[in-house]
Amino acid sequence: MSFIDPNGSNIKEVKAFILKVINILLKKISNAEKHPPLPKKLQNIDKFNLNDLPIAESKILDHIKAIIKNSMNASNPFYLGHMDSLPTTMSIVGDIICSTINNNMLSKDTAPIITEIEKKITNNLAKKFNLGQNSGGVMLSGGSLSNIQAIAIARNRILGTFDKGLTGLKRKPYIFASEEAHTSIQKAAMVLGLGVNSVVPIETNKEGTMKVSVLDKSIKEKIKDNGFPFCIIATAGTTITGGIDDLQEISKIANKYKLWMHTDAVYGGALIFSNQFKSKLKGIENSDSIAFNPQKWLYITKTCSVLLLKNKKYFYSDFFTPLPYVLKENQEYHQGEITLQGTRYPDALKLWLSLQHLGNFSYSEIIKNSYKYTSLFKKKLLEIKNIKISCEPQMNIICFRYQKANSTLKENNEINLSLQKFLLKKHNIFFSFIKFKSYNFLRAVLLNPFFNSKHIKKICSSIREFTNEKKIIKLKKLND
Ligand SMILES: *Cc1c(COP(=O)(O)O)cnc(C)c1O
Repeated sequence: MSFIDPNGSNIKEVKAFILKVINILLKKISNAEKHPPLPKKLQNIDKFNLNDLPIAESKILDHIKAIIKNSMNASNPFYLGHMDSLPTTMSIVGDIICSTINNNMLSKDTAPIITEIEKKITNNLAKKFNLGQNSGGVMLSGGSLSNIQAIAIARNRILGTFDKGLTGLKRKPYIFASEEAHTSIQKAAMVLGLGVNSVVPIETNKEGTMKVSVLDKSIKEKIKDNGFPFCIIATAGTTITGGIDDLQEISKIANKYKLWMHTDAVYGGALIFSNQFKSKLKGIENSDSIAFNPQKWLYITKTCSVLLLKNKKYFYSDFFTPLPYVLKENQEYHQGEITLQGTRYPDALKLWLSLQHLGNFSYSEIIKNSYKYTSLFKKKLLEIKNIKISCEPQMNIICFRYQKANSTLKENNEINLSLQKFLLKKHNIFFSFIKFKSYNFLRAVLLNPFFNSKHIKKICSSIREFTNEKKIIKLKKLND
């Protein structure tokens, strides 16, 4: 059964094996809260070594069990550390379909119907963000790629680099992004030949969002020094604290200096589905481009990212590279000619299935619930003696730290690392450990729709156990 026979001779065997795997998976995932959010120490890595000879299916099944057991378990509501959560049921179904039909989003021939679905989804999302009549987009494998392609189009559009690249530019190009912007912006600058030093970090206020007056000043300075500012990156939902830049004011600056405005809404873009909270994205409609990851707050299986343009014709004028080996009718273009990737996975299907199944309505409710528990969690955390938060949450991300009076920054940072380890090792509660404005914090991303007050209660009692002054020294030793 190495392959499924197109004439059906081995279908019984194949079905039996696949059903076994599905049973193992469903058993695990439907008991996710009983298993730790992260695997305990990985053991016997050697048993995963590759062999030259084939191994029996029963042995493969053992391997599969071990792999599932040793994987991240983001379905557990105590998995709070990162922007991972349990996937929608429809996106699991979508993935099963995609790997079985194994289409290729390169062109219409290689993915006839899902190419149409991708166009419908990206047009629909662009209109949802209010990007206007000429807007549209493409899908990519992750937010970093969406940011890279957006900045490539901005660069080609504003600097005219499509043909000759950067050679011959008389002035050094600059990108402006907040100091809390995602590292994929640096990566983009590096791969696009601009160099990481072309990204000018703009100071943020205490919420971790861009100081717009500093942005203005900084652009002015670069122009004065004979630099060539061409792009501003606004962030709607910073990865560390969920801060949302003032998109309205940033768009005015972009307009004033005629710069490309790209909004990294990779995390926060989901708010456009929230009837209650979409106003937090006010001004996003002025962006020239938006990157948004349904794989985060829309719970689509990884990977799933969208790049939207206010003017979709720039995909053709500033990015288009023709494929010589696919047929074209009526001068139409193929998706593979306007996306950074060639072959692409049909991410569009699982997003489309999930949007159909949940509708805007359910996403709006899920987001409302996230806010409700973020605010309850904040309240309960602040009732614990010496617990401080990094800043007022603007989304479903909350960063907190234990801060003892009269101890140094270094001591406090160390205590918080012990707290993070203590919660994970002793109580199976996973927070990430981050740095924000030189302080370390434990960070919670409240994505899981099954997270509720019962979980908050357990987290708070576990934190209290740690912060109980008499124990703290002893526990610190235990964790070292
Ligand atoms: C997660 C994230 C990214 C990167 O997305 P990937 O899918 O991990 O490549 C970019 N920007 C922000 C704000 C993010 O939170």
